[in-house]
Amino acid sequence: MSRKVLLPDTGQFFEIRFESIGGLGAHAAGRIVATAAVLRMGLNGAHFSSYGSEKKGSVVRSFIRLAPTDRPIRTSAPIESPDVVVVFHSGLLAHPATLDGIRPAGTLIYAGHADEVPAELARLPATTRVIRIDAQTIAIEEKSRANAVLIGTLTAALPFLDRQAMIDTLDATFAGRHPEAVAANKRAFVRGAEEFELLENIGCGEDGILASPANPVWGYRTAPLGGVLPMPGNSVWNDLHTSRTGWLPVLDLDKCIDCGMCEMVCPDLCLVWSTGAGEEDQLIVKLEGIDYRYGKGCMRCVETCSTLAMTREAETPGLADRLRVPLFPDLLKETGGGHVA
Ligand code: SF4
Ligand code: SF4
Repeated sequence: MSRKVLLPDTGQFFEIRFESIGGLGAHAAGRIVATAAVLRMGLNGAHFSSYGSEKKGSVVRSFIRLAPTDRPIRTSAPIESPDVVVVFHSGLLAHPATLDGIRPAGTLIYAGHADEVPAELARLPATTRVIRIDAQTIAIEEKSRANAVLIGTLTAALPFLDRQAMIDTLDATFAGRHPEAVAANKRAFVRGAEEFELLENIGCGEDGILASPANPVWGYRTAPLGGVLPMPGNSVWNDLHTSRTGWLPVLDLDKCIDCGMCEMVCPDLCLVWSTGAGEEDQLIVKLEGIDYRYGKGCMRCVETCSTLAMTREAETPGLADRLRVPLFPDLLKETGGGHVA
């Protein structure tokens, strides 16, 4: 049964953008929110997502556009000036595009651990509401996923969203194929709606404008002419730390037998190996560790390792930096550390 819902009067569609990475369930969350709005709250709505390279771990953006029933939605253009941005992983905030276009009176919800306030948030307009929820920890504790937590937080942050409609849609989505997940998702939703923190004095952008990020050293105006790559193989400079699922593989060298199976399945070639000579001069290849800068946290190595040398651990702030074994130590010297989130 739908009811009369009053959307905030922005003079435009009410627009929500999810910023996420494959595997965290942003597309499913967007579909649930839009379905609840259309089928149970009587709104007009549209939902669609854009994916990167279509693999678990790459960047995903999901868009929800809402309007009163008397206002048709005839556009499916990506949302560039959202009223709400929901960031499924705080590491994504390192990318300037994550906050792009957020409206001055808008809301940012981000999944982050307690006390985690990424420096990039200072770019926000001072008028933007900032909400943090430890979605990853709640999801792990409730055996659910971060998307259920974040739907709960979004529902609590936007009074026009009907809580029961959202829970009913969440239930209906999983009741058929994953009935065992219904109760866990509901607990995660409720905790997301109740345990978020409203952060004060975060944005420093003046006049309600999102501050521009610092220009990269090279852009299309400043790059050297002539199509010359002065640093061949420069993809090693890429920092892919945002491509994570919330989990990190952790290597226990004492259990590792250097069988190489993890290397066979790792899509990102981020395992670090050393070579040496054995007693009879035979080649010895040993696994030294993982360079998290290039991995996505897909957990294939963990699932493949027969000796349980690879285990998965929740990605807490600083863990990757502590455990990282650099693939390119020389690069580390040049960049002064190459921090990963
Ligand atoms: S699969 Fe496990 S045992 Fe084999 S090399 Fe990788 S971590 Fe070591
Ligand atoms: S190291 Fe493991 S978790 Fe990381 S990308 Fe490779 S297979 Fe996936």
